[in-house]
Amino acid sequence: SYRKGGYHAVRVGDTFSGGRYIAQRKLGWGQFSTVWLAYDSLTSKYVALKIQKSAPEFAESAIHEIEVVSVLTKNDPDNKKCVIRLLNHFKHTGPNGQHFCMVFEFLGDSILQLIKYNRYKGLPLNRVRAICRCILTTLDYLHTQLGIIHTDLKPENILLVSTINPSNDPNRSKKGPILSKPDGSMNNGGGFVVNAIEKRLKQRARQAVARISARRASLGGFRPVTKGDRCFDGIDFRCKVVDFGNACWANRPNAEEIQTRQYRAPEVILQSGYTYSADMWSFACTAFELATGEMMFAPKPGQSYSEDEDHLALMMEILGKIPRKIAIGGLRSKDYFDRYGDLKRIRRLKHVPLARLLIDKFKFSVNDARDFADFLIPILDFAPEKRPTAEQCLQHPWLNKSSESSVQKLDSEMSKLQIK
Ligand code: ADP
Ligand code: MG
Repeated sequence: SYRKGGYHAVRVGDTFSGGRYIAQRKLGWGQFSTVWLAYDSLTSKYVALKIQKSAPEFAESAIHEIEVVSVLTKNDPDNKKCVIRLLNHFKHTGPNGQHFCMVFEFLGDSILQLIKYNRYKGLPLNRVRAICRCILTTLDYLHTQLGIIHTDLKPENILLVSTINPSNDPNRSKKGPILSKPDGSMNNGGGFVVNAIEKRLKQRARQAVARISARRASLGGFRPVTKGDRCFDGIDFRCKVVDFGNACWANRPNAEEIQTRQYRAPEVILQSGYTYSADMWSFACTAFELATGEMMFAPKPGQSYSEDEDHLALMMEILGKIPRKIAIGGLRSKDYFDRYGDLKRIRRLKHVPLARLLIDKFKFSVNDARDFADFLIPILDFAPEKRPTAEQCLQHPWLNKSSESSVQKLDSEMSKLQIK
């Protein structure tokens, strides 16, 4: 698609906006754009440069994204809401046409990457909690303060906060996800510096660092700790929600079909109308995936049934039957349900409640499974209006638990070895 109306081909060293931004390397791409790491010669900082395809429909969607993200940035002057910040935007003319370009703050890997680095085993629950708190902070901000629905929440669209200097980081994408570097900006509140250590403790400390590095790598998939690094536990963990190309104002929804398949809410499949609570459904699916390493619902079409019908069946196997009134209440209900509210083509469902699934398949302890299911089940209510809001979720005891993680235990052990 590097042709008229499509992507703009970029080479390392290419400049944009009258020479201000210098392309360094490609960070990623989507259906609409390519995203490049660029050096901002005016501020001497690294930024993410999103270069949209040039055809009119892509230009239109870029204008929409710029409008939404400008609102997000403007209303969060203190940068506390865990949303991507727009720094600048301009147009760039190339051989394939005119491309809208957006300049964002540079962030790290996505949490999908984090799950992959952890070999799809799921992250430690304290880490899951920290990520959930970030996402809910964003959703509360979008929903109650701005009236915006994200509509495409998923692990791929949640990026780790990074303050690393990318050109100096030879480890990038080799050893583990990029999180942060000692820079002060995200180190308040927790962590410690592995630094000069008194002679008689040197040996012990070195062993401890090696042990902690190994444990840490196995627990969270982080690159090993070295001298000068800051160590993090769940407290300092931060991420940001990105990709507002599909976001919409709740009072003017822009599409019937929203969300990426696996994170799609039942009311979207049935076309019974959606609002903010559709984001909450995607949030719960994302939290499950973080904790288990597997997608909560991964529907496939069968010989006699569609992907949609399989999706509804999978939901009912974990969450119980969809109440008849809800099942038959959507514009598309007749495609899947008979008038009794039973699926037309998938008759036999195997009910495995969420807590049981967490214990049997994902080897959660009974307590962890019960607590996590208590948190998720209300968010996965088939009745959208019964789901808790992001603000209510933030009050839930599961999120505010302060059980000491293994990483924290190691950290406090380590800090005892520190000499001031
Ligand atoms: P699209 O709208 O085309 O899907 P996205 O905004 O999702 O584009 O960006 C595509 C990819 O580029 C993302 O999945 C991510 O890997 C990378 N990316 C986007 N924004 C940033 C950023 N601010 N910092 C680092 N990487 C980014
Ligand atoms: Mg995207």
